[in-house]
Amino acid sequence: MKRILMIATGGTIASRPSEAGLTPQLSAEELLSMAPAIANFCKVETLQLMNIDSTNMSPDCWLKLSSCIEQRYVQFDGFVITHGTDTMAYTAAALSYLIQGSGKPIMLSGSQRSIWLRDTDARTNLQDAFRAAADSALAGVYVVFDGKVICGTRARKMRTKSMNAFSSIDWPEAALLREGRILHLLNDHQAYPQVRFYRNLDPRVFVLRLIPGMDTAILPKLAVVYDALIIESFGVGGLPCYESEDFVTALKTWTDAGKPVVITTQVPHEGSDLGVYEVGARAAGLPGVLQAYTMTIEAVVTKMMWILGLTKDPEQIKALFYEPVAHDLLKFEEPDERV
Ligand code: ASP
Repeated sequence: MKRILMIATGGTIASRPSEAGLTPQLSAEELLSMAPAIANFCKVETLQLMNIDSTNMSPDCWLKLSSCIEQRYVQFDGFVITHGTDTMAYTAAALSYLIQGSGKPIMLSGSQRSIWLRDTDARTNLQDAFRAAADSALAGVYVVFDGKVICGTRARKMRTKSMNAFSSIDWPEAALLREGRILHLLNDHQAYPQVRFYRNLDPRVFVLRLIPGMDTAILPKLAVVYDALIIESFGVGGLPCYESEDFVTALKTWTDAGKPVVITTQVPHEGSDLGVYEVGARAAGLPGVLQAYTMTIEAVVTKMMWILGLTKDPEQIKALFYEPVAHDLLKFEEPDERV
């Protein structure tokens, strides 16, 4: 039988009502006892790393998770992390950068309804996560939810209440689960040279969502506090130039300081393409300005935190940003390969 480590972090799956609203209270052992069928196909050990609403997840928590897996990596065949759904996509993306080339499955799961309720998605999701964690063909970091196995860099919470809360953004699901059986959709058997764990993140990354008429005065102020700026722009991407204000000029504080600026889009699918319109091409011409292509915002944020934890050199930042990691970026999106 495969040996799986269950790392519990909290979330709705482990929540019970309190006077102030739902809070995580159930332990890893209690969760496991509510899905007894798991013991039929794998041998589980549990570890309660934290018990929090995932609203309170932070880069420090991601480092704790990664280090917890690093310390036990050789002892187990796979890992299941139970987690709140609200920031699960960020954690999945962060772990995809912190743990690269894993030859073992690392599955995140949770639920929209607590496990103690009769009508809940928790037991199925938990059981599915263990099935996936026991399948060595699913090596790497994934979100397992509502019968889907979604690549960690491609997951996004799309629904606040329904059971089918997560989607895979601009990338196929790796597998589906139907009544405990795994149907592989991606033939993704890569050579896993050696797992690499990274131990540093720079959390000083800011996301600015553009709205029409936004004042540029915010840009230099943000540069005092943050090391990278991610601008969620419109459509395929561009920066506004109003009569009195030009975003491209206002970004000088960032580019002069050698701090990266990434342009992404508010549109959920198909990503950026700054070369299409003049408003985009002007921005793309600035040194230090990068674009996200189809990378999700969760992937862009955590990839930048990982990169800035390694280097502050603009050339190295650019090279690492455009280097695909765990399917976050498609090969044809790399600038040098574009026609
Ligand atoms: N607020 C909860 C959390 O993210 C929601 C959930 O788990 O579904 O921890």
